[in-house]
Amino acid sequence: MIEWNSLGFNYIKTNTMVCSHYKDGQWGPVESRTDDNITISALSASLHYGVECFEGLKAFKCKDGKIRIFRPDENAKRLIRSATYLGIAAPSEEMFVEMVKQVVLENADFIPPHDTGASLYIRPTLIGVGPQLGVKPSVEAFFMIMVAPVGAYAGGIDSPVKAVIAREYDRAAHKGSGSYKVGGNYAASLFAGLEAKRAGYPGVLYLDPKEHKYIDEFSSSNFFGIKDNTYITPDSHTVLPSITNKSLEQVAKDLGYKTERRPIPVEELATFEEVGECGTAVVITPVNQVDDKPSIEGAEFNAVYKYAKECGPVSRKLYNTLVGIQRGEIEDTHNWCVVL
Ligand SMILES: *Cc1c(COP(=O)(O)O)cnc(C)c1O
Repeated sequence: MIEWNSLGFNYIKTNTMVCSHYKDGQWGPVESRTDDNITISALSASLHYGVECFEGLKAFKCKDGKIRIFRPDENAKRLIRSATYLGIAAPSEEMFVEMVKQVVLENADFIPPHDTGASLYIRPTLIGVGPQLGVKPSVEAFFMIMVAPVGAYAGGIDSPVKAVIAREYDRAAHKGSGSYKVGGNYAASLFAGLEAKRAGYPGVLYLDPKEHKYIDEFSSSNFFGIKDNTYITPDSHTVLPSITNKSLEQVAKDLGYKTERRPIPVEELATFEEVGECGTAVVITPVNQVDDKPSIEGAEFNAVYKYAKECGPVSRKLYNTLVGIQRGEIEDTHNWCVVL
């Protein structure tokens, strides 16, 4: 029996995962497996050269008894874009969405009840497989989708966090892989994340890797700021195009706020009324302080930007609206949800 109310962001074994193997120029049949261990060649390029990309999305059990999956078509498109960058085969948008629906239905008993605030996290992953030594894209690929029931990732909307600017590190290069959802970007941000945790910061905020003058994003979520009834998020080619951010931007417009996507100089942090992180896992994590330090673990400060201790009213409104749409309690005027 799962304690739905005490779920974190941890893997819990579910009924099945679904997968397909790309070989000889085509995708094999979609398999459903109860075993979540896979066998691949020890010479797979995913293990040696980081030929890996992934996605994250959620399914919700709703009050009306239906299951809703939030914008899986967007995740399909983004995975195809990442796979193209890595030079490996990707499932079609249709194959992706069908496999997501299948794995959700096969694990419907692991979707938390609607009144818990929890959800089913869906993790599609695409890796280069097959024996190879040379540094080149894989001709074989393995696509798999796992699921796990999760609570709110970082404590959620009611637990604002403190973030630090990573002056010593970039998560991606100026003309590099920042806008693709590849595992390598995460490998590159783990060390800074550990230092930040040691120094008492749950959040790490990266700047543009070319000039280090503008805000890019957090290690695994996008940045937004609110001021003068405007939702503002960075326009940067090194930021991962978050589906949550894009959705919040639309929700902001629908609610009558203005929106801006433009470079945001670091100093502009002093002028925001609210600042937040956004992404699938949390939707919105309010940020109550950003410390700009030459070194994450050092004692020196360039600047300290402070915001309200609790989640601000605009962030809260955006959050409630988006979560309401995801959970089938607010009309889905943009047809974002796939309903099962
Ligand atoms: C996945 C991810 C996000 C959030 O994207 P969503 O589509 O909203 O889940 C933000 N930043 C990075 C670096 C990511 O990998």
